[in-house]
Amino acid sequence: MTTAEKVTQSPPELLTDVDSLRRRVAQARRAGLTVGLVPTMGALHAGHVSLVEAAARECRLTIVTIFVNPTQFGPNEDFGRYPRTLEADLAALAGRGADLVFAPATEVMYPPSHVTYVEMGGPALGLEGACRPGHFRGVATIVLKLFNLVQPDRAYFGRKDYQQSLVVKRLVRDFDLPIHVEVCPTMRESDGLAMSSRNRYLSAVERERALAISRSLSLARRLAGEGTREVAPIVDQMRRMLERAPVEIDYVTLADRETLEPLVRLDRPALALVAARVGATRLIDNDWID
Ligand code: AMP
Repeated sequence: MTTAEKVTQSPPELLTDVDSLRRRVAQARRAGLTVGLVPTMGALHAGHVSLVEAAARECRLTIVTIFVNPTQFGPNEDFGRYPRTLEADLAALAGRGADLVFAPATEVMYPPSHVTYVEMGGPALGLEGACRPGHFRGVATIVLKLFNLVQPDRAYFGRKDYQQSLVVKRLVRDFDLPIHVEVCPTMRESDGLAMSSRNRYLSAVERERALAISRSLSLARRLAGEGTREVAPIVDQMRRMLERAPVEIDYVTLADRETLEPLVRLDRPALALVAARVGATRLIDNDWID
C-alpha cells in the first residue's frame, strides 16, 4: 500500500468536545472549504456510508456526527439498548471520505441545565409524530443544535426516514438556516429489506417476516403501475400482506409526497409509507409510487 492509500484508508479523526469541533470547522471555513454534515446515531451500515460518500463528493470537509439522541426516544423505546459501536463505526468510515467524526457524550449535548426544545407542527404531526409523541421534538432539537455547532453548507439525510427529511427541510426554512438539505436514496439489502441499525435486533425468523414491509411497498408500486388509481384497494392488499407475515402494523398509507396528507386517489406525486413492529423491533420504510 502506498503512503497516499494509507492516508485515505485511515479512519477519520474523532472529536468529542464542542471546542475542537468549532475550531476545526472555523479553520476549514477560513480556507474557503465547503462543509458537509451527516448526522447519524451510529451503528453504521451501507445506508449511512452512502450519505457520507455523497457528502464527500460535494464538500471539501465532511463531518459525520454519531450521537444516540435521548430526546427523540420515548420512555418505552430502545434508547437503552440502541447499538453503540463507535470503533466499528470509525472503521466503517475509513476510506469513505469522512474527515471528522463528532461523537459527543450525552452531557456534552444536553448538560443538566438544558431546557430549550424545538416544537414543530406541519410535517412533524402525523405518522411517526403520532406514533412516537415527542420524537420529532427531539429530532428537530438535536438537528438544530448540530446545525448550529457545525454550520454546514450542506446536510445529508436518508429518504428511508422520509418524514424526518421533510421535518428537517421545514426546520431549515422556518429558522432561515443557510443550509442545503440533500435527501439520498434508501439503501437496501439484496432481498429488499431497508438497511437500518435496528435490523440487528431481528432473529432469523423475524428477519424473514420483516421482508413483508418492503414487499408490501413493491406490491403498491406494482398495483399503481398496473393502473389502480384508488388508494383503498392498494392499502387493503398491503395490509393483508403485512398481516400474513405476520407483522404488527402501526400505519400503512399512500400519501402526498410534499405534505404527507393521506390520498384517496393517486392523482399527484405519492409515496407509500409503512411502520410495523416485528417482535419487539419497530421498522419503517417507504417508496415512491409513480
Ligand atoms: P440514523 O442513524 O438511523 O439516525 O440515520 C442517520 C441517517 O441515515 C438518516 O438521515 C437516515 O435517514 C439515514 N439512513 C438510515 N438508513 C438508511 C438507508 N437504508 N439508506 C439511506 N439512508 C439511510
